Amino acid sequence: MDRSSAGALDAERQRLLRSLPAVSTLCQHPAVRPFVDELGERAVVPVIQEVLAATRQTILTTGQAGDVLTALLRELEQLARPRLEPVINATGVVIHTNLGRAPVSEEAAQAMADAARRYTALEIELETGRRGGRMAEISRLLSLLTGAEAGLAVNNNAAAVLLVLSTFCAGRAVLVSRSQAVEIGGGFRIPDVLRQSGARLVEVGTTNRTYVRDYEAAISEETAAILSVHWSNFRIIGFTHQPSLEELAELAHAHGLLLIEDVGSGALLDTAQFGLAHEPTVQEAIAAGADLVCFSGDKLLGGPQAGLIVGRRSLIERLERHPLARAIRADKTALAGLATTLRHYVRGEAMEKIPVWRMIAAPVAALEERCRNWAAELAASVDCSVVATEATVGGGSLPGETLPSVALAIPAVSLQARYGLGLEEFARRLRLGRPPVIGRVEDERLMLDARTVLPEQDRVLVTAIRRALGIT
Ligand SMILES: *Cc1c(COP(=O)(O)O)cnc(C)c1O
Repeated sequence: MDRSSAGALDAERQRLLRSLPAVSTLCQHPAVRPFVDELGERAVVPVIQEVLAATRQTILTTGQAGDVLTALLRELEQLARPRLEPVINATGVVIHTNLGRAPVSEEAAQAMADAARRYTALEIELETGRRGGRMAEISRLLSLLTGAEAGLAVNNNAAAVLLVLSTFCAGRAVLVSRSQAVEIGGGFRIPDVLRQSGARLVEVGTTNRTYVRDYEAAISEETAAILSVHWSNFRIIGFTHQPSLEELAELAHAHGLLLIEDVGSGALLDTAQFGLAHEPTVQEAIAAGADLVCFSGDKLLGGPQAGLIVGRRSLIERLERHPLARAIRADKTALAGLATTLRHYVRGEAMEKIPVWRMIAAPVAALEERCRNWAAELAASVDCSVVATEATVGGGSLPGETLPSVALAIPAVSLQARYGLGLEEFARRLRLGRPPVIGRVEDERLMLDARTVLPEQDRVLVTAIRRALGIT
């Protein structure tokens, strides 16, 4: 590049820099005004300054400015809009971790809202007026449902496992089958959790086959427990062996060790009745002789985020007294939602009330009928068809298992021909709509799976699709 063209470029950059609008001008812009009214100038001005600074940087490095107003409005839109607004999950993944896992029942949501809005008898005995335990109700319900003597709720299952290991195994050894020294996603790795608790991991057996005698040979003076971890999100098939929980309980108890089971998704109902594989249930683990069983509140239990621990009363009491228990305790809204969710099981109404079970249990014919209604309502606006598809349970449970489902398929060709819309752009508009709709792009079509859309969302979904097409 010779000197004159370098100079010309600088002049162009200087021209672009000089043409940038002033902060006050942007503040007065008719498109920005509503944000100033909603958020106040104190929130909007720093955003304008950031966008201008970023634009200046872009001009200096690339010689191009981009559209300042568009960039600004995108930032302001995000600031004004709550991130955790309700989304329509049309992905066909029932327990979608990125979409907040299990939605809770109407009754649980109401109980959570009430607990948040008002004072509650969280730690007071209404009978005597004296201080009471915040876990009494949850413990009672868990015991009724699982056959365990007592139970406890903490912040999540990762915390539950950490608390159990910290309380009973710190400074001692814990036996784990080599096939179970696993990562469950989102940073939960069994070897790391053990290390964090101060316990020493002793891997036994091999990746595919572990026998009772492998555990037995590894027991020493130092051993505190056998930890068994459910393979939530993967499978090992073929030439495999893993002792049953009963066998492990017998061995552990013969040597004065604890048997701790991390059962993962916390199913209380049998998934096999829906044509899925059988996900181990909490009550089975207790019946098999596990001393402590840990599981999540917001996977197949279908409640709010929580980690639950059930087992022998004397052990649960020791967990409650550990200093870590205070640091990871569940808040009152979670406890209110959990108690309501557990009561659905006690009353035998879990399948009708709890959204994850409603979705799993929905008959294909009912899904097809709803999907046909969506298609009929949209028929005049866009070519779409009702297609057979497969939904999954997700949330690190039942890997490889699918539920037959039905989806509305909107083909890319029709979007292009009638609206000049690309498939990705249409998917983006659906995501950015109100409420956002999350589908999946497959075979040049946008697929909206009916299994994970609650029937009460049907109307809103159709309206959202119309809006994304630009029809109001
Ligand atoms: C999901 C899962 C966890 C982590 O539970 P969170 O509630 O997400 O903390 C731990 N162990 C197993 C086996 C799991 O499936």
